[in-house]
Amino acid sequence: MTEILPGVHAIDGIDPSPDFTTNVLLLKDAKGGTWTLLDTGLPKQAGYDGGPAIVERYCAQHSIPLGSIRRIVITHLHLDHTGGLGELARKTGARIFAHWIEAAFIAKDPPYEGPGMPPKEAIQVHEKLKDGDTLDSFEGLVAYHSPGHTPGHTSYYCPARKILFAGDAVFNTGGKLVVSLKEYTFSSPLAQISVRRLAGLPVESVIQYHGAPVLKGGGKLLSAAAGHKT
Ligand SMILES: [Zn+2]
Repeated sequence: MTEILPGVHAIDGIDPSPDFTTNVLLLKDAKGGTWTLLDTGLPKQAGYDGGPAIVERYCAQHSIPLGSIRRIVITHLHLDHTGGLGELARKTGARIFAHWIEAAFIAKDPPYEGPGMPPKEAIQVHEKLKDGDTLDSFEGLVAYHSPGHTPGHTSYYCPARKILFAGDAVFNTGGKLVVSLKEYTFSSPLAQISVRRLAGLPVESVIQYHGAPVLKGGGKLLSAAAGHKT
């Protein structure tokens, strides 16, 4: 079991390759004995079992009933985040949460034409979020619309624990946080502005989707990524 922080599980074995890590997270909800899944991994492909099978295996190994996952929260539309969404939503019966802009692209209405892989299947998001919305997941999450990587990219912040679930707003490259990589990003200047805003939050841990999570001192690295003086 990889419980990287109390109540925060990183799903083992979900990285498609050692140089392409994907932090799919299971968050234990403070209330109700339920769980929240944050992003869903790539779909099954040659040589890779796919997010749904790997999440299912993790849950079976750790006695987490699939039906106790009541919410699936998505940071953005890219396939490495939404590839397992349809199947996992069907298997768990969870409600799907995403920003209202990403919700339209995840439903392929209209299809996304920016950089990065779009979802393969059209999926209906149940709860369309806007900036500042709060979720009962984990120990309380606040949606921070952080556009740039994609138009509706959203990071989720837990004020009670000072954890920022950053999605692809930042990447960890060799222990340093950097603004999301240009080649996969809709607007780099917008991504930079979003990171600047996130860096204004009191943050201890930054758990972004790619690269090792920063469990301590994350705020300083985030400020450095934003170009703030630390
Ligand atoms: Zn992405």
